[in-house]
Amino acid sequence: MKAGVYYHPDFADNGYPVLKDRVKPGFDGLYKFIKDGKIQLFTPEIDEEAENLLAATHSSRHIASVNHSGYHEVSLLSAAGVVQAATKLAQGDLEFAFCFVGAAGHHAGYDHYWGFCFYNDVAMAVKKLRTLGINKIMIIDVDPHFGDGTRDLLGNDPDVIHINFYSGFRKTHYDSNLRNYDIAISGATDEVFLHALDSVLGQEWDFELLIVIFGHDSHHRDYGGFNLSNMAYPQFAQKIKNFSLEKPVLFVLSGGSNPQVARDVIPAIVEVFVK
Ligand SMILES: [Zn+2]
Repeated sequence: MKAGVYYHPDFADNGYPVLKDRVKPGFDGLYKFIKDGKIQLFTPEIDEEAENLLAATHSSRHIASVNHSGYHEVSLLSAAGVVQAATKLAQGDLEFAFCFVGAAGHHAGYDHYWGFCFYNDVAMAVKKLRTLGINKIMIIDVDPHFGDGTRDLLGNDPDVIHINFYSGFRKTHYDSNLRNYDIAISGATDEVFLHALDSVLGQEWDFELLIVIFGHDSHHRDYGGFNLSNMAYPQFAQKIKNFSLEKPVLFVLSGGSNPQVARDVIPAIVEVFVK
């Protein structure tokens, strides 16, 4: 499999405080795959395209506010990596990509943001994919916090399937017209999570490229509302791999703070795709 990892040292050096300490341990766990030539390392850069996609995705007020926060640069660099990975996947240069980030994206809507998210990396990538002829995109968000920013930006687009596995006050809800599916599994154990995943992946879905918003705050030793163990992650990855049926798969890092969890679960996921 043609696989790529997108990583920049700024993600660990200048990323959002809650998120940044896990970045380098997670990346270091991939060293053996990079050394063996199983996965290619890419360094994202902020270019004109990333600037243009940002301006097309968020309000000028939003961007000005992020600038003021001090997280503009690392957030745009993070999103640029996701856009650049999506481009290579769409063009057939890669079949699988894993993107590290210094700040997350799924709580960033058109004109608002919260929860360590500033710019919606995935929404920017979807805009880019459309210019490359990829219209039908499936997003599976397994960060245990609800992807409200992604829903704000992409929820009205029926060519984007948006599936959220999450913990919280909302109830399980399906909107088959807009193809938004919210699956409430607060406190999910491995068994509950993998069963809920099976119930989604067992259905017929029409898509050309799959994006997984991956937060390891789902781990019982991290801060989110699921209770997964190390065992769940390679099983999850294998199910995603089987489901994708050789369509391109883009993993985008989301929540998670615990360096040891990142060191354990990120390489375990990547190994499934590169072995
Ligand atoms: Zn989260």
